[in-house]
Amino acid sequence: QSPPKPPPLPSPLRFSKFFQSNMRILVTGGAGFIGSHLVDKLMENEKNEVIVVDNYFTGSKDNLRKWIGHPRFELIRHDVTEPLLVEVDQIYHLACPASPIFYKYNPVKTIKTNVIGTLNMLGLAKRVGARILLTSTSEVYGDPLIHPQPETYWGNVNPIGVRSCYDEGKRVAETLMFDYHRQHGIEIRIARIFNTYGPRMNIDDGRVVSNFIAQALRGEPLTVQKPGTQTRSFCYVSDMVNGLIRLMEGENTGPINIGNPGEFTMLELAETVKELINPKVEINMVENTPDDPRQRKPDITKAKELLGWEPKVKLRDGLPLMEEDFRLRLEYPKRSEN
Ligand code: NAD
Ligand code: UDP
Ligand code: UDP
Repeated sequence: QSPPKPPPLPSPLRFSKFFQSNMRILVTGGAGFIGSHLVDKLMENEKNEVIVVDNYFTGSKDNLRKWIGHPRFELIRHDVTEPLLVEVDQIYHLACPASPIFYKYNPVKTIKTNVIGTLNMLGLAKRVGARILLTSTSEVYGDPLIHPQPETYWGNVNPIGVRSCYDEGKRVAETLMFDYHRQHGIEIRIARIFNTYGPRMNIDDGRVVSNFIAQALRGEPLTVQKPGTQTRSFCYVSDMVNGLIRLMEGENTGPINIGNPGEFTMLELAETVKELINPKVEINMVENTPDDPRQRKPDITKAKELLGWEPKVKLRDGLPLMEEDFRLRLEYPKRSEN
């Protein structure tokens, strides 16, 4: 017979208060695009210690190079589908490939990451009494029949399609979060992130903003997938990170939409990139992939009211910041040097 389990630790057990130390924060997927910007922001606060766990599937150590060796920073190669033992006060759970070409590359792994990975992080949160934030996605609304999408909309998702590993995976992750909250009293936060862009996006990850900017810089045609009238709403990464921290620090479980309500068709986006980055480039219409949502725009009333948050960076201001980063990484000279 196994020995009786010890009584659970009081929740929330704040390690920072217990040991009079810094706030210790775990960021899963912290070597990725949004995660590394979140780490930068958290590290600005000298009271924060940050631990990143990442398996480097789509992320890179390079995104965190300025923190490697810093006394308040630790980087661990770890796959969240395996159990993790660390002692922390807060968990930002981002680990999951976000670009369709990467999450479709190994769909079984994607759904394991969403389900088993989130279960493990919730088990960890339960053991140490940490507050946990999940980065869910606007994809939980599927191909939405309500526009713009409020958090109360349950979505229109194909459960057996090629995107299901990601969108149904995130839906189960949200369910797990609420079940641990109701059953075990875990403090949870759920952000439903809408399309986000900015420096450090993978250059060839197939997402539309990174594709168009890389194509414009290389002088290749911009590939607008048909029909081109489908819409998305793009949030600059610094706005996103501020929204996530507001949500973590606030009193609302969510789910809360975090995104920029400025809505563009993919043809409009291509025209804007062409105008700002390379007026000589052509725009080509190409075949689309299955289950592509036709429209997407966040209703951010809840974020405004409950978090006092709204995005500040307009698409036209954010694109040149991303262009600068892509020019450096692709080693294309600045326009003035052309
Ligand atoms: P990203 O691919 O740049 O980052 C994800 C990180 O998670 C990478 O560093 C990757 O190596 C890591 N990872 C993946 N599987 C892992 C595993 N099993 N164990 C440990 N690490 C793992 O993507 P991103 O754009 O930074 O997205 C971060 C989060 O935000 C994801 O959860 C994503 O679903 C969510 N999100 C992003 C967007 C967006 O537009 N970028 C939109 C909606 C939701
Ligand atoms: N877990 C973890 N780190 C911890 C505590 C738990 O990774 O510090 C994992 C654990 O391996 C399990 C999952 O989280 O697979 C859920 O844990 P929980 O205690 O809720 O469930 P149980 O272990 O009783 O199934
Ligand atoms: N898209 C496009 N050209 C590309 C890549 C994507 O027109 O080179 C379109 C795609 O059909 C979709 C939109 O851009 O309608 C957003 O796609 P992305 O993969 O960036 O994100 P998600 O579909 O997850 O919102």
